[in-house]
Amino acid sequence: MTNNETIVALATPNGIGAIAVIRLSGLDAITIANSVWRGKDLTKEASHTIHFGHIMDGDLMLDEVLASLFIAPSSYTRENVVEISCHASGYIIESIIKLFIKKGARSAKPGEFTLRAFLNGQLDLSQAEAVADLIASNSKASQQVALQQLRGGFSSQLQTLREQLVNFASLIELELDFAEEDVEFANRGQLKQLIVDITRIIGRLIQSFELGNAIKQGVNTVIAGRPNAGKSTLLNALLNEERAIVSHIPGTTRDTIEEVLNIQGINFRLIDTAGIREATDAIEQIGVQRTMEKISQSALLIYVFDAEQITLDELKSDLTSLQTPGVAMLLVANKMDLLNSAGKEDDIEAFFQTSGLPDNQTIFISAKEKLHIDDLKNRIYSAAIKDQLSGDETLVTNIRHLEALQKTEEALTRILGGIDGSITSDFLSIDIKQALHYLGEITGAVTTDDLLDNIFSKFCIGK
Ligand code: GDP
Repeated sequence: MTNNETIVALATPNGIGAIAVIRLSGLDAITIANSVWRGKDLTKEASHTIHFGHIMDGDLMLDEVLASLFIAPSSYTRENVVEISCHASGYIIESIIKLFIKKGARSAKPGEFTLRAFLNGQLDLSQAEAVADLIASNSKASQQVALQQLRGGFSSQLQTLREQLVNFASLIELELDFAEEDVEFANRGQLKQLIVDITRIIGRLIQSFELGNAIKQGVNTVIAGRPNAGKSTLLNALLNEERAIVSHIPGTTRDTIEEVLNIQGINFRLIDTAGIREATDAIEQIGVQRTMEKISQSALLIYVFDAEQITLDELKSDLTSLQTPGVAMLLVANKMDLLNSAGKEDDIEAFFQTSGLPDNQTIFISAKEKLHIDDLKNRIYSAAIKDQLSGDETLVTNIRHLEALQKTEEALTRILGGIDGSITSDFLSIDIKQALHYLGEITGAVTTDDLLDNIFSKFCIGK
């Protein structure tokens, strides 16, 4: 990794616009910019200042621009940085970048600015990843979680745990030096308490992934039910628009439709599936299979039934075939506007009370008349997001972090087992080092080139 090269890339999206920002970072960023600059001498200007000038290719003026100066270490990368705001024409952008390359810069690789920020200690690894998450965030909740991680909440929590473990690791190392004398510098009772405490924190972080991931990726939600139950009508009512095709012919929704519904900042990816019924033709058969497939890939199933038409036997058989381990199920009795007597409603409620399902899972609505739709939205939210978002707790959203935490947990369990089994310091030391290693992988205290490549190659160029 050579950091004396100056890199250049477009930092704004490709395409025509009012302004584009071209970013230069590295030792020679300011001298390279100055070498094609007509205006004040940029090498003599202070950090965090903006200057008007012209970019010149020899005698040819390429554009009238603004240059923002950041002098090392007061910049995103902690290197000298110049950001040129030019007019966003593809031709101008390309010409300026080519000119900078001619003057000694090279094209930045994806994520290379952020990689440098990490290597130069501006951000730790989980914060660098939060930058990518922030750019990709598409809801209030995902933006908030990314921002919290970027601010270092997660990092400082892990850092504290690591420091405590490091203390013990060094005491245990010391015991190894005095192996002959059979001394214990590291109090086993205290070590055990520490490991129990850390295991609890790690366990909480691991648990937070379910919610964290839901926030980041959205919650896959399937709407399923018999033909004509009102799935498409419900989808429209939830989305408040006419997107899915509503028709009287059973089984029209043959392919699946996916729409995103935002409830209290969380994105639910709603999948409307083909009706479930005895397959009468090949296409329906595929539809039914796909429904079951989609359900198994989801976190939440909204089962819709026609409260007026359905028989309790049909209800029972649907519930039996749809129940899928690990998938929360919400039961929606539709067409309540057609239930003119309370009899059917009572029957259905009685059925659920004896079915062994918690009865707060059934909700009566009318998709067509838009009755109880807001109530249903609240139920959808709480069925998927069991723990309320408190705002300040740390949520794990990254699968790489989850895996490292799980490996840390395994090492901690071995340490605990080891203390109880009074194993020797050298074995304890190995497990403590493992735990430290995996914790360190999250923040980047421990890295490999492969790991960094893997993370930063997923960034966009210019970030
Ligand atoms: P799908 O096959 O499950 O997608 O069902 P649709 O959404 O296409 O609805 C089937 C029929 O039921 C349509 O004629 C809808 O207008 C009607 N429908 C849907 N929801 C309601 C409701 O709440 N009340 C009444 N009365 N009719 C409904």
